[in-house]
Amino acid sequence: MYVLVINAGSSSLKYQLLDMSNENLLAKGLCERIGIDGRLVHETTGKPKHTVDTAMPDHGAAIAIVLDTLVDAELGAIGSKDEIKAVGHRVVHGGETFTNSALITDEVFAAIDKNSELAPLHNPANLTGIKACQQNMPGVPNVAVFDTAFHQTMPAKAYLYPIPYEMYDKHKIRKYGFHGTSHKFVSARAAEMLGKPAKDLKIVTCHLGNGASVCAVDGGISVDTSMGLTPLEGLAMGTRSGDLDPAVIPFIMEKENLTAQQVLDMFNKKSGMLGLSGVSSDFRDLADAMDTNPRAKDALDIFAYRVAGYIGRYAAGMNGIDAVVFTAGIGENDTYIREKVCEYLTWLGVDIDLEKNSKRGQALDVSKPSAKTRVLVVPTNEELVIARDTKSILG
Ligand code: AMP
Repeated sequence: MYVLVINAGSSSLKYQLLDMSNENLLAKGLCERIGIDGRLVHETTGKPKHTVDTAMPDHGAAIAIVLDTLVDAELGAIGSKDEIKAVGHRVVHGGETFTNSALITDEVFAAIDKNSELAPLHNPANLTGIKACQQNMPGVPNVAVFDTAFHQTMPAKAYLYPIPYEMYDKHKIRKYGFHGTSHKFVSARAAEMLGKPAKDLKIVTCHLGNGASVCAVDGGISVDTSMGLTPLEGLAMGTRSGDLDPAVIPFIMEKENLTAQQVLDMFNKKSGMLGLSGVSSDFRDLADAMDTNPRAKDALDIFAYRVAGYIGRYAAGMNGIDAVVFTAGIGENDTYIREKVCEYLTWLGVDIDLEKNSKRGQALDVSKPSAKTRVLVVPTNEELVIARDTKSILG
């Protein structure tokens, strides 16, 4: 069964084609600058990468180009688009409606649309991707896989904000959490690596990418996570502030004569590592700058300190942990950040082998054999989770 996985943004669309009989990747690519001009970067496994500038007035046009490329005799991976039996879509916000992935019907489409008020930048773009597939592949089932669904098992003590209860009752203001497909995948993979059933393990998973979140996984289910109503809460990130005193918002509005939306834009796009360092949101640039630029060093210290803080909080929340898992761009590759985070965790029984920790991008237990709490690096694969869920929903 060939499954196409789609991750649609407002002006971009990432895709992967997977053969789910063996979970092999057949092709992957990215459409960029949709609605502006248009560029396709496509790679079929075993063939050279292909980049072309081509008009993409909307997502429908982008999908049509992707399908043409997938069946192209020279560049493609399959003989006919009829070989694609299902499409799995990343959908960012499922609200409280979706505790699991769902076959997209008219009702499901409308429910995703209703959740757009909780994710105004993401859900409308995800729906555009779904519509584009429905137009270009009539009769092929579409499945929505939600970033929030894995966290719907959180108890009220973790998801309720201590503000008047009517705010939750009337407006559904609560913690939802994101990166659920990644936390689910790496926690399950960590249990395999540890050779124990997930139900017997307490794990803290750290998805550290440009967006970053930490999740407490007890017995295989999410019991707490650092992102909230939106992906702004929690850790300091590439360009996002993460946790701060809400009173900072009106204070900056008054001092800088800005609207609430402008302050939120500042916290989303100009804060975090970029805002602190003035150098970059990319951890590689910060590492290059840290010896000569104290602000870059401070930014990295703040990042590591906050990650360690959340791990400690979740170790308390679960009354102990068996393992910490690092994943995503920074978690998989940034050996300095892993080392700095682990320095705070010796009291938890964390003791890493620096030689093992110097490896990048591979699944590995980097702990010393004697360490009580294991530290694992697990490359994430959100597309594979989406394709697996799509296959399982369709039976
Ligand atoms: P992601 O959002 O998961 O793709 O992660 C993107 C982030 O990973 C980038 O902003 C980089 O800061 C970081 N990253 C990627 N590769 C490396 C590397 N080799 N060393 C340190 N950081 C890296």
